[in-house]
Parts: sequence; structure tokens; C-alpha cells
Amino acid sequence: MVKYELPRLPYAYDALEPYIDKQTMEIHHKKHHQAYVDGLNKTLGEISGEFHPQYITSILSDLNTLPESIRNTVNFFGGGFENHKLFWESLTPKNEAGPSGKLEDSIDVYFDNFENFKKEFSNKAMSIQGSGWCWLVFNQTFNKIELITTTNQDSPWTRRKIPLLGLDLWEHAYYLKYQNKKLDFIDAWWNVVNWDYVENRFSELMD
Ligand code: MN
Repeated sequence: MVKYELPRLPYAYDALEPYIDKQTMEIHHKKHHQAYVDGLNKTLGEISGEFHPQYITSILSDLNTLPESIRNTVNFFGGGFENHKLFWESLTPKNEAGPSGKLEDSIDVYFDNFENFKKEFSNKAMSIQGSGWCWLVFNQTFNKIELITTTNQDSPWTRRKIPLLGLDLWEHAYYLKYQNKKLDFIDAWWNVVNWDYVENRFSELMD
């Protein structure tokens, strides 16, 4: 198994302006995400776990495969690594209107309509106390989409739920531009969600 690496952003640091500013993107990617990559590699290295045959999402789905001494650290850095990877991938400067296809249908079933879905997601995101994430996930047990929050860098994978879309609500994700105005950040973020990408993730699960 090769070491985990900081994934390249599929757009420039300033591409999401004015919704997410260049400086925030740069520090968030180069410093914060890099720190999760380094922490994960270092922790797995301590148990020769860099040779762990499974990818981090599988490890997070069953942390009991790891020695107890490093479970919490892998949960934090591994979650941080994978959460941020998905976060970058689910953003785009293209300004897409919203979901279509099967995902749109499913949103209509469980949230009535897209506007109401956005409202419920935003409310849930606002309810997070301290650092955490808000997610649209696929619940395999009940074969449905749902909203959840996680604290710190906990991953939906550790709850055996498949993340489709995630919003980082650590202050490092928005504080330079939005300071305490968390709702303004959430409202802005809707403008840069890559619905094509989210839909593809969902469609692959449905096939
Ligand atoms: Mn972050």
C-alpha cells in the first residue's frame, strides 16, 4: 500500500470566489488537509499499517481491525483525510442549479423538494456545536438518503453510512471571510456544490 497523499484540487484556489475565498482554500488544502494526510501516514507507520490492505474508508468502517492503541488517532486523521477529499470533490465553480435524475427523485421523496432539503440541511449544519461536519449520506440498512452530523473529524463511514455530500463546519473552513457568520458561509456554499459529482456517487450505489 502506498502512502496517502494530498489530492490535487480539481480547480484553482480562487475558482470558488466569491463564495469561498482563495486564502481560505489555500490554507485549508495545503495546511489543514496536509496535516491529516501526514497524521494518517505517521499513525499507520507506527504499526507498519501503511501495508494495511484496505483503503481508509474500509478501515474506518471497521476500526476494530486496528490495534486499540491507534484507533482514535486513525479515526481522527483518517476521517480528516477522507472527509476533506470528498469536500473538494463535491465543489465546483460551475454554479449548478441543483440535483437531477435519481438523486432529485430521492430528495423529493424524503425531503419533499430541493428547497426544503436545503433548508433542513442548513438547519442541521447550524445546529453543530463546536467543530464538525454536516452530511447527506446513503443509509444502506434502510436503503434511503438522510442527513447526519458528525463531530470533529468523525466519518460517516464509521457509522456504516456512505457520504454523498459533506460540509466542513470547522471554523478553519470559513472564519477568514465569514468570521462568526456561519449561516452566510452555508448559504454561499450552496452556490458551489458539484451536483453532477454527488449524483454520480448516488447513481453508482443504485446500479
Ligand atoms: Mn477542514
